[in-house]
Amino acid sequence: MHFTQRFLAAILALTVAVQPLSADELPELGDVASNELSVATEKKIGEQIMHEIRWREPSYLDDADIEAYLNQLGGRLAAASNDPGFGFYFFAISDPNINAFAMPGGYIGVHTGLIASAQTESELAGVLGHEIAHVTQRHIARQVFQSSRINMASMVAMGLALLAARSSSQVAGAAVMSTQAGAISAQLAFSRDFEREADRQGFDILRKAGFDVRGMGGFFTRLQRAVRLYENNATAYLRTHPLSGERLTDMQNRELQVPYRQVVDSVDFHLVKAKIRAMQGTPGDAIKELEALLRDRKFASEAAIHFGLAFARQRAGDWPGAESEIEAVRRLKVAAPMVEHLAADVRIARGEVADGLRIYREAMLRYPLNLALLYGYGGALIGNRQFVESLKLAEVQLGNYPGDVRLHKMRAESYAGLGRRGMQHRALAEVFALQGQTPAAIEQLELAQRAGDANFYEMSSIDARLRELKKRRIEELKERRN
Ligand SMILES: [Zn+2]
Repeated sequence: MHFTQRFLAAILALTVAVQPLSADELPELGDVASNELSVATEKKIGEQIMHEIRWREPSYLDDADIEAYLNQLGGRLAAASNDPGFGFYFFAISDPNINAFAMPGGYIGVHTGLIASAQTESELAGVLGHEIAHVTQRHIARQVFQSSRINMASMVAMGLALLAARSSSQVAGAAVMSTQAGAISAQLAFSRDFEREADRQGFDILRKAGFDVRGMGGFFTRLQRAVRLYENNATAYLRTHPLSGERLTDMQNRELQVPYRQVVDSVDFHLVKAKIRAMQGTPGDAIKELEALLRDRKFASEAAIHFGLAFARQRAGDWPGAESEIEAVRRLKVAAPMVEHLAADVRIARGEVADGLRIYREAMLRYPLNLALLYGYGGALIGNRQFVESLKLAEVQLGNYPGDVRLHKMRAESYAGLGRRGMQHRALAEVFALQGQTPAAIEQLELAQRAGDANFYEMSSIDARLRELKKRRIEELKERRN
């Protein structure tokens, strides 16, 4: 009871504080208890929170390699869940605290501190599987959004409060600072029953996806030990996922029922860990630290350390040094899209653009599903002013990934490079529309209409899309009033 009141006080404050929500969108609180939040509504809330994170959160890590890896791993786990069609999106937050958090709609944030501290891929998979279970079991919908009948804007604000409670997000944190949401944070932890359910289902996911089922228990045990030792980076996850002796015993009992199997970590897991290490601190510090690991032979994958060194040397602008580290990776017979991505970028940075583009093309043939290579290649084409080619790439790939924000941006940048303003705004409209920013999308389409350089067919597509989005906006406003 007091929980709801204090929570709503915080939400009222948030609704004002969070920029895109204006005062006329203050919550409207019905006294009728509503039914459970629909998946579609939950997804819309998630979309808007993701938009906030992508555009305003300084710790959002815009790294396509790491994101591609997380989505590949997460996708494999989600496929083994009891709702494989739910649709998940995994993203990285640059934060040394060990943490992962599920947002409404299947958006799952993973702190770099969690990836860096996971000793095996199964440990990382264990935490992700647990978060996936929170989503497929509708825990967020059931815990946070069920109590009152409120409008969309306040649900987004609630989602942001949730984000603030579950991570050190600055976007949400700043908005929450002046409110009582801090006091609420502790109460946003999932209930014991939900934790138990997520543990059980997370375990099944881990087993079905072919990982070592000891991952979750092993990770928690280590986390607990770390908390006792340092009391710092490890606490974030434990605060929102309180670990009782009972939970740990349950985990261990489940583990005993499955025969032991050795699971080999993927190459990408070690490469991503090395990249995260190479991104931290100054390039000089990162190089020193990685070289020490190499010298003392303290590594699970020697090639990954060379990859980390290549990345750190690229950060330092040492192109020949980066290339010789990439050579070392290749000599150790390790091949991965991330390695080709870096090799191409370094070659381009050295001024050998045609050769860099060739590396990209060959890598894309070899790893056709890797999005980081696609974005990298498109960016390189745009950087080389090959706008016709980058536009073609974006359009062909949008056939495969129509909802991909980065590809729509690539398309907009290509049109900008070609001086085609009408179509540039047309493409930007999709970037906004995909992130639940209908008014901004409408504005872009109106700019596209006025640009005056669209041909007859383009103009009718702009008009048609504008009609659709205006209709969507009316629906959204209607939803707000309900
Ligand atoms: Zn949990």
